[in-house]
Amino acid sequence: MIIGVPKEIKNNENRVALTPAGVAEMKKNGHEVYVQTAAGEGSGFSDQEYIAYGAQILGTIEEVYAVAEMIMKVKEPIASEYNLIRKDQLVFTYFHFASSEPLTHAMIKSEAICLAYETVEKADRSLPLLIPMSEVAGRMSIQEGAKYLEKPLKGRGILLGGVPGVPPAKVLVLGGGIVGTQAAKMAAGLGAQVTIMDVSLPRLRQLSEIMPANVMTIISNSYNIQNAIKEADLIIGAVLIPGAKAPNLITREMLKDMRPGTVLVDVAVDQGGCIETCEPTTHENPTFIIDDIVHYCVANMPGAVPYTSTLALTNATLPYAVQLANKGWKKACAENAELKKGLNIANGKIVYKEVAEAWNLPF
Ligand code: NAD
Repeated sequence: MIIGVPKEIKNNENRVALTPAGVAEMKKNGHEVYVQTAAGEGSGFSDQEYIAYGAQILGTIEEVYAVAEMIMKVKEPIASEYNLIRKDQLVFTYFHFASSEPLTHAMIKSEAICLAYETVEKADRSLPLLIPMSEVAGRMSIQEGAKYLEKPLKGRGILLGGVPGVPPAKVLVLGGGIVGTQAAKMAAGLGAQVTIMDVSLPRLRQLSEIMPANVMTIISNSYNIQNAIKEADLIIGAVLIPGAKAPNLITREMLKDMRPGTVLVDVAVDQGGCIETCEPTTHENPTFIIDDIVHYCVANMPGAVPYTSTLALTNATLPYAVQLANKGWKKACAENAELKKGLNIANGKIVYKEVAEAWNLPF
């Protein structure tokens, strides 16, 4: 199969869908790979490295779309790409159709095959192509939180791990899923005193088995949250109710109960946030302050660490991409139920119920 890897054109997107290692794997399986010049630059991969592993470099995005039977991308196509996608072309990327009606209509019109990373699903209902980005965001939340706790950045001026003779900071993690677990591990590793809250008792049991002694688990309810926020230096919002807006666990009213300079990192901001005062921010301007409380609410945290994020994402996508290239999408999806779940739009028809429901379109 002929595989095309365009350079991402969405603002500040530095990830790339295939690394030179991925090119080598595709070549080994007998496929041709065309990469747009500089596509890997933002993630630390030069055109020369791609060439060394057997890719051919093309100068423009138009050439990549024109030659490829299968396009591998990271972010959803933006308006200027709509007309480059053609009938029967397989596009494997994050689409998030339920949040863009124009994209949904454009892809129906294109009659392409749209296989969405975010809906590839395992039998246990986990989402293997979303997990790596949650892992990145979870780990990064502590790095960012620690930074904004510094006094010049308007934080309380406390070191997460303390020093001998001085107590460490207190970190409260709301939600003990993928993001919360990674956040807690990082904070604990730095020596902070960590509390994870979740509504799921079985999940808290699992966490208490695997977490070090400086991590405490407490059931999540408004009474416990109300008490914990008074003492916390850094609070990580990491809750998710699948398919729904995140619940407001910290209201505006509750900010007055916190100490000035407390830092809130609401990772769940992409689902509306679990802190009422959180509004999405960007890497250029990541924080704002309300009532002396620092809010960090960047909606695409992994974008700041493209080298790690690209490797984490492609580790997860490549095995699926190889199956698609080896068998073609029809056979690959017929033989792999996980991949089949990724099909959202095919040959001009919506084939994923929630996408059809989101825009009241036929399914
Ligand atoms: P997950 O499903 O693995 O974990 C969510 C956890 O929240 C679950 O354990 C669930 O029991 C718990 N929960 C639900 N309601 C709760 C409540 N009231 N109190 C406490 N816990 C509660 O999800 P995840 O992969 O960890 O993702 C968390 C959020 O982070 C999602 O909204 C995801 O989209 C977001 N995310 C954001 C970025 C970013 O860049 N900002 C990146 C990756 C993921």
